[in-house]
Parts: sequence; C-alpha cells; structure tokens
Amino acid sequence: MPNRTAIVIDAHAHCGIIDRGTAQSWDDYRTHLAGTPIRGAALFSPVQEIYDRYDPEFVDTPDWQRRRRESNAYLLSLDSPGFAVHPYFFIWNDFAVDQLQPAHCGIKWHRHSDEPPYHYDTPACRAALTEIRRRRLPVVLEEEFSHTVRFIRELAEGITVIIPHLGMLNGGFGRIANEGLWDLEQVWADTALASAGDILAYLRRYGHERLLFGSDFPFGHPAAELAKVQRLGLTPETTAAVLGDNFRRLQAQVIRDGSR
Ligand SMILES: [Zn+2]
Repeated sequence: MPNRTAIVIDAHAHCGIIDRGTAQSWDDYRTHLAGTPIRGAALFSPVQEIYDRYDPEFVDTPDWQRRRRESNAYLLSLDSPGFAVHPYFFIWNDFAVDQLQPAHCGIKWHRHSDEPPYHYDTPACRAALTEIRRRRLPVVLEEEFSHTVRFIRELAEGITVIIPHLGMLNGGFGRIANEGLWDLEQVWADTALASAGDILAYLRRYGHERLLFGSDFPFGHPAAELAKVQRLGLTPETTAAVLGDNFRRLQAQVIRDGSR
C-alpha cells in the first residue's frame, strides 16, 4: 500500500506581518516545520491583527480596517516551492466578503467571551454568510458556547463549520457532544491542542471523516502536535484521513470562480 500519510496538512496555523509580540512570521513557522512531513497549511492572521482582543468595548476604526486588509492580503502573498499555502480570510464586524479572492480556502471566525462581540443580527452578517455559503468555504469557528450553538443551528445552514481544538475553547468537547453538534454532517473539528483523550473519544463516536490535524502555531508546535496524533495508535486509514485526506476533500468542494 502506498504511504498515503506522506503529505501532511496543518489545518490550523497563524502567521502574521504586523503583530510582532510573538514569533509568528512565515519564516518562524517554516523553521518549526523542519524535519516534519507537513507540506501544506491553512493559515490565519493572528487575532491581534484583526481586532483589539484586550478591549471588550472595542469600536472598529478605518485604521483597524486597514490593518485587517493588510494582514489578510499578506497571507495571499505567501508562496513557497513544495508547500501548499491555504489562506483563510479572518472576518470581523465589517464582514468584508468583498475582499474574498479565488485563492481563499476558508474563513476564520474567532472570539472569546471577554472579547468584543460579533454583530450577528446585522444585514451585513447575513449577507456575508450567504456569500460564504455560495463559495462553499469552510468556517473555522472559535466562539463561546451559546454563540457556537446559534451559529451552527440558526445562521450557518449549509456551511461547513470547523470547531477548533475539539471544542476546548467553544465550551468543551463534552458540552458540544451533549448538544449534539458533533453528530451534524456540517460540523468538523481539528486536533490543535486537543487532548489525546478527546481525540480518541471523538474518533470512537463520530468516525474519522471530519477531523483535521492542526497545530495552532504559534500556540502549539507543529512537530509536537503531529507527534501527539501519531502516538495514538490509529489505523493507517484514520491517520491518512486526519493528517491530510480530509483536508483535501474539504477543499475540493470550494468554489473558486471568483465571481459574485
Ligand atoms: Zn488558533
């Protein structure tokens, strides 16, 4: 049998150009990949390049809009021979889906409970979801529990939602299980910083077709996160699915015509 795990995709990594508070540049990331079989990544902007996460009263400004535009555009500019960059568009309250390009591979949607809220009940939000649905872009959704439930059950019908960290920061793996969200075909997950116990529990209950390997670089280290998954004793089929095949299947559904 050919070695189908040869090409590994990291489905969750942050790279930035503005926020230098953490070593999270494209070069930093590639340094961390040395010696690993990771040959592609879904890249998101660092949160602090998108909104001020330390100010719950944060009000958007033209300066921040410019910052977001620059940060998102930077990911589109990355290129590396032998490495597949999959830029995800980090969306915020201007819901600027007019900035989506055919090269975009997904949406990053992120907020913690002490951070400024998304304005879900605006026409702009609904219009953005319509465009995301039309392009069949997966949404990596990190939000507090009640918003996660509402997003999936009410707002994101027909949109693939990836809950990162197996739910660790969306209310927890068990709470999401009790709510029945993992059962839904539209709900996927990633392994970034998730415990071995949660990964094994997920695979036992929900199968291996909607789980993606991710590192959450710079918060997680790609080699260590990969070793964590490889140590679980999974079957070759499950390993291949989680480390790359599922990501490739997810990306095959994205519409890249660029028209609106
Ligand atoms: Zn992350």
